[in-house]
Amino acid sequence: NAKQRNDGAVVYDPMIDKASETSLSLLTELRNAIENNEFRLHVQPKMKLATGEVVGVESLVRWAHPVRGNVFPDEFIPFAEQTGFIRVLTHWVLEQSAALCREMAAKGIHLKVSVNLSTRDLLDQELPNKFGGILARHQVLPQSFCLEITESAIMDDPVRAQQTLERLHAMGVDLSIDDFGTGYSSLAYLKRLPVDELKIDKSFVLNMENDIGDTKIVRSTIDLGHNMGLRVVAEGIESEAVWRLLAALGCDEGQGYFMSRPIPGDKLVDWIRNWVP
Ligand code: C2E
Ligand code: CA
Ligand code: CA
Repeated sequence: NAKQRNDGAVVYDPMIDKASETSLSLLTELRNAIENNEFRLHVQPKMKLATGEVVGVESLVRWAHPVRGNVFPDEFIPFAEQTGFIRVLTHWVLEQSAALCREMAAKGIHLKVSVNLSTRDLLDQELPNKFGGILARHQVLPQSFCLEITESAIMDDPVRAQQTLERLHAMGVDLSIDDFGTGYSSLAYLKRLPVDELKIDKSFVLNMENDIGDTKIVRSTIDLGHNMGLRVVAEGIESEAVWRLLAALGCDEGQGYFMSRPIPGDKLVDWIRNWVP
């Protein structure tokens, strides 16, 4: 709560005190949330666009806050990243996702689960080992997982991120570049990293049937991905028209509110059984 002035003098700054108190209590709350089981795994189905067959899900975390209700990730993921708490959360999401995958397989439903990783996860040299432990504990194959990374997560420390990603990929897990097209140097990463999937950001997809510019970007991205031997996925499909357009352009898979919003993991079996493409 002390701050150095331009002239070198140290003064007390009540603002700093307040800010660190707020973040301290949020960090404590996040830690308690793990203990008290307040996080919820939601999943959004991902389908083959040509057939409508459900081939996977994306894991998306929610915080069932005792006072504030359902808190969305945008409100706490950035803070979790800043403080390093994200490593604990990622571990929790991987664990829950593996359990769900195993449970579904026991019911004859074989899905690939996609999990989002953050910068801090990629800098964690223990991640491949921890992940291997989770897979072994739940008896799930690495081939049942896809890890989504953003370009900004890689940019923080490209050399270390690449090492972690290469180790993960060597285990047999798929890697996906998330939010493709919104960051920097995407093409350089496509060339260097062992990527299997490219995920077109929803900002290009949401309104593409009315926007010729978006359509051109999406078409070129699909061609780029295919030319590099990658699976191309679109997120943010909110209408049948967009689904049809993407399918006509040859986009492999997609997810979006038109098919389903993210749903609680324990509702997935019923949802799939009721799904008519
Ligand atoms: P993302 O990885 O790009 O995830 C896709 C987001 O788009 C999700 O928001 C999803 O609910 C939303 N979405 C899906 N379909 C549609 C659609 O048709 N229309 C629109 N408008 N939106 C759609 P959500 O669940 O709020 O997550 C926001 C972001 O928070 C994620 O973006 C991801 O970056 C982060 N996040 C969520 N869960 C996790 C997690 O477990 N770990 C990490 N590191 N980040 C997470
Ligand atoms: Ca994602
Ligand atoms: Ca996205």
